[in-house]
Amino acid sequence: MKMRNKEAVKKLLGLLKDYRKIIALIIACLLISTGLNMCIPLLNRGIMDYGFIGGDKELLIKQVICSLLIYMIIAVIDIIKEKKRVDISANIQYSLSEQSFKHLMKIKADYFTNRNYAEILNNINVDIGNMTSIADEGVFFVVTQAFSMVGGIIGLFILDYRMTLMVLLFIPVKAVIMKHFAKKRKRIMDEFITESEKYAGWFGDTVGGVREVKLFGMLENKRAEFADRQLSVINKQKKMNMLAQWNGITDNIIVHLLTSLIYIIGANLVFDMQLSVGSVFAFITYSAYVTGPISAILNIGYLLSGIIPSTKRYYEFMALEEEKENEEGMTEPCFGDLELQNLSFSYEKDKAVLSDINIAFPKGSKTVLIGRNGSGKSTLISLLLQLYQPTGGKITLNGIDISEFVLREYRNMVSVVSQEIYLFNSSIRDNICMYKNIDDKTIMEACKDSGLADFISEVSLDYVVGQNGAMLSGGQKQKIALARALVHNSPVIIFDEATSNTDVYSEHQINGLLHTKLKEKTVIIITHKQEILKEADQIIMLKDGVVVGSGVYDHLSKDNLEFKNMLKMGEKY
Ligand code: ADP
Repeated sequence: MKMRNKEAVKKLLGLLKDYRKIIALIIACLLISTGLNMCIPLLNRGIMDYGFIGGDKELLIKQVICSLLIYMIIAVIDIIKEKKRVDISANIQYSLSEQSFKHLMKIKADYFTNRNYAEILNNINVDIGNMTSIADEGVFFVVTQAFSMVGGIIGLFILDYRMTLMVLLFIPVKAVIMKHFAKKRKRIMDEFITESEKYAGWFGDTVGGVREVKLFGMLENKRAEFADRQLSVINKQKKMNMLAQWNGITDNIIVHLLTSLIYIIGANLVFDMQLSVGSVFAFITYSAYVTGPISAILNIGYLLSGIIPSTKRYYEFMALEEEKENEEGMTEPCFGDLELQNLSFSYEKDKAVLSDINIAFPKGSKTVLIGRNGSGKSTLISLLLQLYQPTGGKITLNGIDISEFVLREYRNMVSVVSQEIYLFNSSIRDNICMYKNIDDKTIMEACKDSGLADFISEVSLDYVVGQNGAMLSGGQKQKIALARALVHNSPVIIFDEATSNTDVYSEHQINGLLHTKLKEKTVIIITHKQEILKEADQIIMLKDGVVVGSGVYDHLSKDNLEFKNMLKMGEKY
C-alpha cells in the first residue's frame, strides 16, 4: 500500500501533536528572541549616526551596553528553547523506535523471509533518523520567521519604501529556485533510501555467510560486490551533500546580490542626502530579516523532501499486518484432538505447497510425518504454530478452528524440538526457561531426560551459549530444545527432524520418553529413523504436499513401496 505525500506530511505533523505545550513554549522563546533581535539594527543605527558621526559618546556607550544586554538575554532564552527542543526530538525518536520494535515482534512471519536483520535495522534507523529531524531547530524556527519577516518589512518601510519594494521583488525569484532544489532532493533521497536498503541487505547476507566466504575463497568476489554497492550508496550521499551545498551557495549569492544592490542604491540615496549612513546599514540588517525567513520558509519544502520518503517507508512498514493480539472474543484453547481438515497452503500464488491434507492427531497420540525434502513437512508445522494461515481448509483443536484461540495461549500449548531453534546469547538456564520462573531442580530433571545432564555437569547451567548457540553442537542445541519443551510442559510436542543429529543413545532416550514423560502428550515427529517409526501410533507419508499413505510401521513396511523408498532416502540423511 503506497502512501501519498500529503498523508506522510500529516503523519509527520502528528508526531508533534503530543508536544503542543512544549512547542508553544519553544515558539514563545523564539518569538521573544526574534523580537529582541529586531531592536539591534535600530540601536546600531543610533551608535553610527549619533555616536560615531554625531559625537555623542555617552549615548554611544549606553547603546552598546544595551546591545550587549539584549544579546545576553537572547542567549539565555536560546538555551532554554534548545533544551526543550532536544527533549522533543529524543522523545519522538524513542517512541518511533519503540513502536517499530513492538510492531516488528508481532509482524507476520513472511516479512522475514526475504529480509535479514541488517536490512531491517538499517531501514528502521535511517527512517527514524530522518523523521526525527521534524523536530530540528530549522522546523520550529520557520514558525517564528513570519513574525521576523513582518518586523523586518516594517523596519524596511520605516527606513525607505523604494528599496523595500526591491527587496520584496526577490521573493518569487527565490521561491522558484528553492522549489527546484526540493524536487531534486526528494528524488535523490528516494534513490539513497533504496540503495542503502539494498546495501544493508547485501551486508547482512554476506556477514551471515562469512564462513562460506572463507571456505570457498569468495573474498575477492565479495570485495568487488562491496565496492559496487557501497559506492552507489556513497555516491547518492555525495550527491545529497553537494545539493545541500548548492542550495546554501545559491541562497548566499542571492542574498549578497541583494545586499550589493542595496549598497549601490543606498549610496546614491546617501549622496543625494535622502538617507543617513546608519540607515543604509540598518536597512541591510533588516533586509536580512526578510530574506532569511524567506529562505527558511521555502526551505521547509526542502527539509520535508528529505524526510517524506522515509516517513512513507516507515508507515508502510507499520501498516504491515500483525499477528492478531486482541484477546477479546477469542476462545481459551483446551487440550484435545488436533485435526487438519482439507488443509491447503501456498507461499506464492498458484504454487501449492500443501494440498487438501486431512490428518487427525488424537489427544495423546504419537504421529510420525515422513517425506522427502520439500514435501511440505516444515510448512505443515509452521501452520500448526500459526506462523502462517492456511490458504484453504482449517486446523482444529477440540473441534474449534485454532485461529479462534488466543494466539499466545495456543502457542503456549505447542513446543517444537528442533536443531534449528534459536538460542539467545545467554545462559543455558535462560534458554531453557525463556523468562518463565522455573526452579533449578525442575530444569535439571528436564536436562536429565533430554540427555543434556552430562554436558551441564561439565559447564553448569550458567554456561553462556554464544550467538545462536554458536558454542554448542547441533545435538546439544537440540537437547536444550527438548529440555525447554519438557519444562514448559506443553501438551503438544513437535520434533522436527528430532533425532537427525543426536546419537543412538538419545534416540533410545526419546523413545523412552514417548512412553513416560510424553505419554499423555500429543507428539508429532518428523523423522526417518526406524526405531521411532516403529513406536508411532500412525505414520503419515507426505509427497509433494499431498498425503500419499498412512498407517502403522508393520503394515506400511510390508507392502508399501513408496514407504520403503522413503525409508531408503532417509537412511542417507
Ligand atoms: P520439508 O520440510 O518437507 O523439507 P518445506 O515445508 O520446508 O519441506 O518446503 C515445502 C516447499 O515449500 C518447498 O518446495 C520449498 O521450496 C517451499 N518453501 C518453503 N518455505 C518457503 C517460503 N518461506 N517461501 C516460499 N516457498 C517456501
